Amino acid sequence: MQGLVIETVSDLYKVEVKNQIYTAKARGIFKKDDVQPLVGDIVKLEEIDEDKQEAVIGEIKARKNYIKRPRMCNVTQIIFVVSSKNPKPDLLMLDKQLAFSEFLNIKPVIVLNKVDLDKQSEFKEIKKVYSKIGYKVLETEATNKAGVEELVKLMKGNINAFSGNSGVGKSTLINAIFNDNLSLEGEISQKNKRGKNTTTSVKLYKMDEKTYIADTPGFSTFDISEIESKDLYKYFKEFSDEKCKYVGCTHIKEAECGIKQDVEEGKINIGRYERFCKIYNELKQKEERKW
Ligand code: GDP
Ligand code: ZN
Repeated sequence: MQGLVIETVSDLYKVEVKNQIYTAKARGIFKKDDVQPLVGDIVKLEEIDEDKQEAVIGEIKARKNYIKRPRMCNVTQIIFVVSSKNPKPDLLMLDKQLAFSEFLNIKPVIVLNKVDLDKQSEFKEIKKVYSKIGYKVLETEATNKAGVEELVKLMKGNINAFSGNSGVGKSTLINAIFNDNLSLEGEISQKNKRGKNTTTSVKLYKMDEKTYIADTPGFSTFDISEIESKDLYKYFKEFSDEKCKYVGCTHIKEAECGIKQDVEEGKINIGRYERFCKIYNELKQKEERKW
């Protein structure tokens, strides 16, 4: 049998197989090879007890991607939530996370939440900037479920994870999504009871046959220092290679830089460029500290 690891509980794994949940142990061989099944893994199971739904994980299928913190794999879409107020939009964080999702090859979606508090219409500009780059941008009011239906549509067929600073409305959005989805009734009450995230492990919640939400404790902390400063520009989608012909250009201080020229001509948004420089310098400093 083949299944999806939806949760790990100490050294046991909850594995979903055709709507049934098996409790599985991992074969000793994994420990020896220093690999471990992770939430998001597709695994091969050998049944031990059909009635008790106990099994052993015999094989881990090749992973599409791997996130170190929180540890999980095969996420296909990350939903980055930004709020208009409390906290105000943190575009530096957003750009870091967008770069990280490009690096991991995970589809990003940007959700601008708390539109009701967006009195200065700041979201209009943010939406314009990021749509132009080619990102999907949605506006929501989670407390009213406005925009949630569209978000659910975009989530279909994916293993979705939510990310964003504390207070932006991730839990409210997730609850709104669950309440809209009758098949999740069991999970909703669990979710509500648990309230604020206190656990440190990741869990996948099923929305439908092919759609899951990862409930993650600390996505906002994920670490982009895996990206080398010299490669950062590759993960700023609109800074393509053709734009700068200057070999070995860092796109930071070189006078002939094609990307800087595009910024001057307004083809690349200056805010995005400035945040690129900031993130570049942060990565560079970290690299220097390593030596
Ligand atoms: P999280 O830390 O990202 O999970 O954020 P929460 O979901 O806990 O939301 C933080 C606060 O923002 C709560 O008091 C929510 O009721 C509130 N909130 C969430 N979405 C909205 C929204 O669309 N509009 C307004 N006005 N408040 C919201
Ligand atoms: Zn350049």
